[in-house]
Amino acid sequence: MSQEKLLTITTTILVLWVIFIITWERVSPYRKGLKFFREGFWIDLVWYTLIQSYFLKILIFDYIIAPIQHHLDWSSFQFVAHWPIAVQVLFFLVTHDLYIYLFHRLQHRSKFLWRTHEAHHSGKEVDFLSGSRSHIIEIIINQTIEFAPIILLGADPAVIPIKALLDAMFGMFIHANVNVKLGKLKYILNTPELHLWHHANYIEVFHANFATKFSIWDHLFGSAYDPGHPPGNERENWGLGYEYPRDYFMQHAFSVKRFDEKKLLKYKWFERYYNLRPAILSLLLSPWKKHYSKTDATPPSATIDTTITTHPQEEILQ
Ligand SMILES: [Zn+2]
Ligand SMILES: [Zn+2]
Repeated sequence: MSQEKLLTITTTILVLWVIFIITWERVSPYRKGLKFFREGFWIDLVWYTLIQSYFLKILIFDYIIAPIQHHLDWSSFQFVAHWPIAVQVLFFLVTHDLYIYLFHRLQHRSKFLWRTHEAHHSGKEVDFLSGSRSHIIEIIINQTIEFAPIILLGADPAVIPIKALLDAMFGMFIHANVNVKLGKLKYILNTPELHLWHHANYIEVFHANFATKFSIWDHLFGSAYDPGHPPGNERENWGLGYEYPRDYFMQHAFSVKRFDEKKLLKYKWFERYYNLRPAILSLLLSPWKKHYSKTDATPPSATIDTTITTHPQEEILQ
């Protein structure tokens, strides 16, 4: 099958999967009352899913993996080249998932690496799109380690789009606000039930449920947390225990230097910049305004009233 045809098939499956998950979230929600256009929806869709993914794909494949591939001779390392494609996919699925489990666990342990991961935990309302919210550095590290071996070890070119499709489908599934029970299968495959707990603001899960696709890692390494009931439905029960910027660029700046957005608003240039995005968005979305989440469009000057506190996880590490 040509690569083009395969891309058409994987894209079609992805679109159908998005429609299926969105419908599922409306029919059987895990957390009641979550709006479709929830807080941060447009940041996740426009900045993280579309713009960031587009540029990081170019950076990772063309400027990191390609030079490594061309400057070194990998022919003697290409041991997967003659395996059936299904076995190659399974091999990279399992090995990368184990890596991501270990790295994710480290990100929750290390104060330094936490700065590259807190963005992923910053959403107070978690749904199918929330998995896309990941810091630039986190994506560069994880996707380079994911795709470089596929290319360098001589896998079939079909493995990349198939693996990328499975990543996207699983990412949406484990973050989806759906009430689903997988029975005994939940000891092997990750579920929204387990991963939504990982996004809850409870000290019990600051160091638990690190799995992405296979929950078996959490069970094997003793980090599973599955109390059998959902977290509370209040704002403070979800996301980070401290105030976090709402703007994409501010979120990345915050990982380098802690600051209080509210205080920056005293600078005219910052206030103008900060209100520009909600103003444009508000204008573009005026036809759908009745569905649009007010919180996302409101300048922070009107909504943020708390000060930065240390994350309980950071306190534990001290
Ligand atoms: Zn995490
Ligand atoms: Zn997540």
